[in-house]
Amino acid sequence: MSSNVKPVAIIGGGITGLTVAFYLQQRGVPVVLYEATDRVGGAIQSLARDGYLAEFGPNTILETSPKITTLVKDAGLAERRRDPDAKAGARYVVRYQRPIEMPGSPLGFFTTKLFTLAAKWAVLREPFRPARRDGVEESIADFVRRRLGREFLDHAIDALVAGIYAGDPEKLSVQQAFPKLAALEANYGSMIKGQILGGRERKRRGEIAKDRAPKFSFDDGLQVLPDTLRARLGGAVRLNTTVTKLTQTVKGWLVDSYANGQERRVEHSAVLYAGTAFKLAELGLASLQPLSLKPFGDIRYPPVASVVLGFRRKDVAHSCNGFGMLIPRVEGFKILGTIFSSSLFPNRAPAGHLTLTNYVGGERYPELAAKPVEELVEITCADLRVLLGVKGKPTFQHSVYWPKAIPQYNLGYGRFRALMTEIEGKAAGLFFAGHYRDGISVGDSIVSGVNGVERMEKYLAAVGGRAR
Ligand SMILES: Cc1cc2nc3c(=O)[nH]c(=O)nc-3n(C[C@H](O)[C@H](O)[C@H](O)COP(=O)(O)OP(=O)(O)OC[C@H]3O[C@@H](n4cnc5c(N)ncnc54)[C@H](O)[C@@H]3O)c2cc1C
Repeated sequence: MSSNVKPVAIIGGGITGLTVAFYLQQRGVPVVLYEATDRVGGAIQSLARDGYLAEFGPNTILETSPKITTLVKDAGLAERRRDPDAKAGARYVVRYQRPIEMPGSPLGFFTTKLFTLAAKWAVLREPFRPARRDGVEESIADFVRRRLGREFLDHAIDALVAGIYAGDPEKLSVQQAFPKLAALEANYGSMIKGQILGGRERKRRGEIAKDRAPKFSFDDGLQVLPDTLRARLGGAVRLNTTVTKLTQTVKGWLVDSYANGQERRVEHSAVLYAGTAFKLAELGLASLQPLSLKPFGDIRYPPVASVVLGFRRKDVAHSCNGFGMLIPRVEGFKILGTIFSSSLFPNRAPAGHLTLTNYVGGERYPELAAKPVEELVEITCADLRVLLGVKGKPTFQHSVYWPKAIPQYNLGYGRFRALMTEIEGKAAGLFFAGHYRDGISVGDSIVSGVNGVERMEKYLAAVGGRAR
């Protein structure tokens, strides 16, 4: 591509924007990445202090697509990738006020104390329940009640939904938030049958089911990935720079931004927005056809506090061997769940200590997330005393408050996705990618970014000389 081509603007320095900028730059497309804060990574945030390595956003990346593996390699990070300890595979769900290991096999399912005989029987009957194929959108709660029964919803799915979305199962749309689950019923008439028969199809697409996908991090935590991509991007990254307005011209886009008290307007060939939905709604848009970004302000992001605590190993009765524990609402605890971070990776706590990453708030208790740190630590310790037999005071504590943590793919979310597609169709050269569009996980965001690069490249090739 010739050097007088105007650069592409990428808005947002989270993992999506960094992935897009990195690959476009690698393919010879000039880019400028605008990031409002003084750091890259967005929701990815690692802290090394006092011998602890804490994660306040995601703890691991789920490797559900080869595109994720390729990004790690292309960023030169294959050597720094760390897989969790093989012994840390166990996942716990709280029932009867204590963590019970989730069954890992069909035999384990029959013998587990996690579910009553009635719930197990309801699950066994799932393949024989009539499939609903009327296309009507349904909450994950209604879907699970209908196919697996009430107990499975209250004691398993509710906890899972809190662990993934910090969300409310009565509001989350199964079609939007768990599309693969909805597709199993639509395509195979049953989740269980689909899980078995759909394996071959997934393999053909190069996909790995979320429950089987490997998880990984890096030697110095997840922040290594955004930091490395930023270093590779060099001078293309503008930190502390908030994009305020996009203006479409016949040749491309004018991007207004604000940095150090100064406003700037820069010409770009195209724009990819990789920020958050609530910030997208604040962005001015002057497109050739009248379009508005305001509706994206209706996307709900509940607040979450990440409370990372260190303890002496001898002060915790539970082995904490495993990934962590999920807590259903019916159990009456205030924390949503806990990741056994130092069981996953060896350098998360000093010798003789362990690190527990806890989440407070979400749709379940939004008012708790904004409590002062000391109160959050108290709330968390009170639950951990009962659940894990924790004694004494934490040897490490640090909390991060996310006032708007994770977008809820609630009933009706499809209208936001349809609007993004409509705007992309009408405002040529403006693209959307990231956690608010293609799935909320880090892996989903990377794949969304890679797919965004493909769409952008097609557009640039089509407009050719015009985008100058
Ligand atoms: C507490 C928590 C725990 C999580 N746990 C997991 C987990 O265990 N596993 C998992 O896979 N995922 C997890 N996630 C989700 C995952 O981390 C995110 O969905 C993913 O990192 C989103 O990446 P992104 O680049 O799309 O957006 P973000 O990381 O939100 O980045 C968007 C960036 O855009 C910038 N921006 C926005 N507007 C503008 C503007 N106008 N101008 C300039 N910059 C702008 C923002 O400052 C931000 O840096 C978690 C998230 C949170 C909050």
